[in-house]
Amino acid sequence: MSYASQIIQILKDKNPSQNEFHQAVEEVLTSLEPLLSREKKYQDSAILERMVVPERQIIFRVTWVDDKGKIQVNYGYRIEFNSAIGPYKGGLRFHPNVNVGVIKFLGFEQVLKNSLTTLSMGGGKGGSDFDPKGKSEMEVMRFCQSFMNELYRHIGAHTDVPAGDIGVGGREIGYLFGQYKKLTNRFDGVLTGKGLNWGGSLVRPEATGYGCVYFAQEMLKDRNESLEGKICLVSGAGNVAIYTIEKLHQIGAIPVTASDSKGMIYDKEGIDVALLKEIKEVRRASLEEYAKAKPSAKYTKASDYESGCNGVWSIPCFAAFPSATQNELSAKDAKILLQNGCKCVSEGANMPSTNEAIELFLNAKICYGPGKAANAGGVAVSGLEMAQNASMHPWSFEEVDQKLLGIMKNIYQNASSTAKDFGDPTNLVMGANIAGFRKVADSMIDQGVV
Ligand code: GLU
Repeated sequence: MSYASQIIQILKDKNPSQNEFHQAVEEVLTSLEPLLSREKKYQDSAILERMVVPERQIIFRVTWVDDKGKIQVNYGYRIEFNSAIGPYKGGLRFHPNVNVGVIKFLGFEQVLKNSLTTLSMGGGKGGSDFDPKGKSEMEVMRFCQSFMNELYRHIGAHTDVPAGDIGVGGREIGYLFGQYKKLTNRFDGVLTGKGLNWGGSLVRPEATGYGCVYFAQEMLKDRNESLEGKICLVSGAGNVAIYTIEKLHQIGAIPVTASDSKGMIYDKEGIDVALLKEIKEVRRASLEEYAKAKPSAKYTKASDYESGCNGVWSIPCFAAFPSATQNELSAKDAKILLQNGCKCVSEGANMPSTNEAIELFLNAKICYGPGKAANAGGVAVSGLEMAQNASMHPWSFEEVDQKLLGIMKNIYQNASSTAKDFGDPTNLVMGANIAGFRKVADSMIDQGVV
């Protein structure tokens, strides 16, 4: 059994039923095989054994009182995965399906993603099984305050810097920051994704979506292709999906879909971003409202479609941008996309494709940008927000956007040249994993057995 396979087996035995975590580790470790057999130092230093175990895992109770006066209890998590190249950095996810396995998969991915950005950020992730859907503004605020009542003692601008993820946007970061300040009496750059008036960075809300499109453009440029005039599918309707759609319009592509937990919309005229923002960001309503307001859009209810992100992946397209959540794109969906002539998949979400779907994309040799490379723009601009906070000097929109573009180009070049070096030029999964891993692993070796 290879070194990587042994570690995967031990991990599964020691962490039963953490399926998403097993999946993320298996994908990465398997793709590292060519590096591990070329360089024995990683095995000699027990790097894989160390990298799959988080440096610290914090699990806490979050107690709060709902609008009816009833006491509610949720699980809170912060998993500080790896600090070899910088303070722990990564988002908080509030979603009912959050558990230890989900946070560990996200934290593990974050370590390699942050390494690829070239900025000095380690990896961590946190969150709660709290469901913000249907909660009042005051319930969300009380929950965030209670969550921070425990979290504040573990985080710091040079220790651990959380941000947003699914269910955590500007509103939640505001309540979390307010409570952090109240408890510590410090105005620190301890969270990113802050409001512009109080230390946030321009382009942070747009960064993941814009970056994901920049990454797709880089992949396609290498094959003398472009997104201009092309039909694109986007899943999800949160921050990542919205700004992916916005950027696709800006570069002359035609994004025709969006989806939420209840269904999906297919608007062949192209998704109206202003309307989508109004429904999702202001009214926090279902996508059904979009179809009611725009006659060119067809609404499909989730229950009418058994898989494939409520039917998004069944529409013929040139490029696909999975931007909803983990495992939203199965092997069945991948087959349909490929049969319909899809040439490019750029992942805005974390681990949206199953390992079987990834295999199909790699075998078909289409442009496939794995999440940890393609969606790194979000955390990269978080890193730029930390730099602006430290220097007390805010940058302009153009300045941040240019830096984001430069970072995404660099991630592509790094992943692509590493893939070439290891003999599989179109395999950006291997390229990104090896490139991200090497920097962290070499830093761990430099810093001794700690
Ligand atoms: N949650 C985002 C991600 O998955 C952003 C994290 C951050 O900005 O720290 O990378």
